[in-house]
Amino acid sequence: MSYLMDYHIHSIHSTDAISSISEICQSAVNKGINEIIITDHYEPSNGDELYTIYDQKSYWAEITKAKQLFKGKLKLKMGVELGQPHIFKEGSEIVMKDFPYDYVIASAHKLPDGRDMSELDYSTISIEDVCAMYLEQINMLIDWQNFDCVGHLDLIKRYSASTYGKNLSLTCQYELLSQVLRKLIASGKGIEINTSGLRQTPKETMPGLDVLTLYHQLGGEILTIGSDAHRAEDVGKGIREAHALAKSAGFRFITSFHERKPVQIQISDQKAFSASQR
Ligand SMILES: [Zn+2]
Ligand SMILES: [Zn+2]
Repeated sequence: MSYLMDYHIHSIHSTDAISSISEICQSAVNKGINEIIITDHYEPSNGDELYTIYDQKSYWAEITKAKQLFKGKLKLKMGVELGQPHIFKEGSEIVMKDFPYDYVIASAHKLPDGRDMSELDYSTISIEDVCAMYLEQINMLIDWQNFDCVGHLDLIKRYSASTYGKNLSLTCQYELLSQVLRKLIASGKGIEINTSGLRQTPKETMPGLDVLTLYHQLGGEILTIGSDAHRAEDVGKGIREAHALAKSAGFRFITSFHERKPVQIQISDQKAFSASQR
């Protein structure tokens, strides 16, 4: 019996997403997904440390309602995607303290000077320099510690693919990447396979097979899968491909989270999941 999870989804509680929590749940049920976590953005910018747009209370109330509505059809847990929490420590820690999330993604969307990764002029920077700069942000993110998985580890691929084509891989900074991954693993944190890249210009997951294989070889075990859907129809997209990719990289388990604690779920041989360890 298959067990499918989508651990990275945005609802109308994110400024850049359009679907309600119940539309997302219905889409997941229609696609045979067993478990989801809606991880809306808490994304402060300079001067907006408390990011008031993120209405945590109404997110919480609607998730609680949907849990009842979809009981027996879909397992729904609580999550959040924190944008650069290493820069906005105080606000991020307040958000986490007030509500007991099951799962926390930490992402580096912006540089400390406020520029978003989507706004950089990649034609003026070498691939090696972009990778070094981005890994430095991930390094600082790991120092912050209060998260479960790093979101879309090579996000710069999403925005630079139109300039670099398929040439960008964090492995061009092999030593630095290995060092960052070792630190992440030693901290008991993980990464996700973000499948949105399959639908966008890079046409591959973030990260791809090379980085996933290195993560596995270095002893990485905590690995989630998320579509990063910003509309209900994208929920669950690429999840099955991500299972195959994880297996190719050497993984036998995908991680689920409950109250911030990881639980390993075996990847079955029939491209399906067994929830035997639950
Ligand atoms: Zn993100
Ligand atoms: Zn996201």
